[in-house]
Amino acid sequence: MKLKVLFGIVAQAILALQSQTVAMAGPQVEVPAQRFVCNTGYTAKECLAQIAVLRKALAKYPAAQLGTWTWVLVRSEDWKPILGSRGLRPDTPALSDPHQRATFIEEALMGQPSVRASHLMERWDMNVDRLLDFAVAHELGHTLCNEKDEREADRVARMLQERKPFACITRLNVAARAADATREERSSSACC
Ligand SMILES: [Zn+2]
Repeated sequence: MKLKVLFGIVAQAILALQSQTVAMAGPQVEVPAQRFVCNTGYTAKECLAQIAVLRKALAKYPAAQLGTWTWVLVRSEDWKPILGSRGLRPDTPALSDPHQRATFIEEALMGQPSVRASHLMERWDMNVDRLLDFAVAHELGHTLCNEKDEREADRVARMLQERKPFACITRLNVAARAADATREERSSSACC
């Protein structure tokens, strides 16, 4: 079932840090914007406060490499049906949809104490700050690499968290397959 996001409050927080273009020689390079929105049920104040938390968590990561991307905050009470509709485990606090070019994050990671936040902290054995950081890095592991595999997303996430350069296995595999195909083509055309 396609995830239906009702953009109740569209807090059009174009990431200021993304628009601070890097000083370069020559014409300025336009950096694609990241959009932040809240799903239905938020007050404007709650929405802006949670966006600020999420933006802070994202600031250390190269999210701009995603190009145009939307980060959607979802209230915990609306989160469960979304997970159910996608057949995801109930302790999943974030998910990404490459077709919508969006990542969805449950509000329980935004620092306000709640039963759901306590449950997630216990389940993942992390405090909420670490869990938010982990969730953001993990989703970037999926999205930056267009990677579906969970372990591979975790691997990229660790590289991101440690601020190490990373390579996407999927892309490497695609490149390797393309190279193999070229080699085969050459050897067959050179043959006989
Ligand atoms: Zn994942």
